[in-house]
Amino acid sequence: MRDLARPVAAGVAAALVPPRCAGCDAPGAWLCLECRAALEPADVPLAGLPVRVAGLYEGPLRAAIHRYKYRAEPGLAAELGDLVADLLARDLARGSRVDVVVPVPLHPRRVRERGYDQTALLAERIALRTGMPLRRALRRVRHVRPQVELDRSERLRNVAGAFAGAVGSLRGARVALVDDVVTTGATLREAARAAHGCGARRVRAYAVAHDE
Ligand SMILES: [Zn+2]
Repeated sequence: MRDLARPVAAGVAAALVPPRCAGCDAPGAWLCLECRAALEPADVPLAGLPVRVAGLYEGPLRAAIHRYKYRAEPGLAAELGDLVADLLARDLARGSRVDVVVPVPLHPRRVRERGYDQTALLAERIALRTGMPLRRALRRVRHVRPQVELDRSERLRNVAGAFAGAVGSLRGARVALVDDVVTTGATLREAARAAHGCGARRVRAYAVAHDE
């Protein structure tokens, strides 16, 4: 019961807080139109895995993500999810084929600490906005140290074998993998490897921001 009650309580709290822009503090939205317009969507160069992000992890986007992740403002999921949904919608309009949206999962222990899974909420929003089915095909099988505490080479070792899913659960699927922030890409690459292990035919990744 506790596990169910906490995210609901967080959602209620978020609904009661009037939104203010994370970038400029203007009232009315979690990320105002001007701050949104200043973002520059980009491709993250990562061998073997196409990755698109809504912008760099700086300025308003950094502030918004920080508020979303660390200050328990899950109301931002819609705002940030829409940024990523736009990227996916653009690719779909250009003829990219995607069958399912799959979130990069947090470890259950971290979900309990935070009260919600920020990437799952983003993926839900992206699926809703693009009309793509959501499938939580992957799970964390190891509790790893937060990547933010590690250097580049440690990050690669840290996430090795971190994800798993049922064999065949993504058979033949073209997957849009969703994460919040991409840094070295080690986590995304490992999650993509697990998706292929579940039978995925192709994997592209989408994230809110790139932390260079
Ligand atoms: Zn603003």
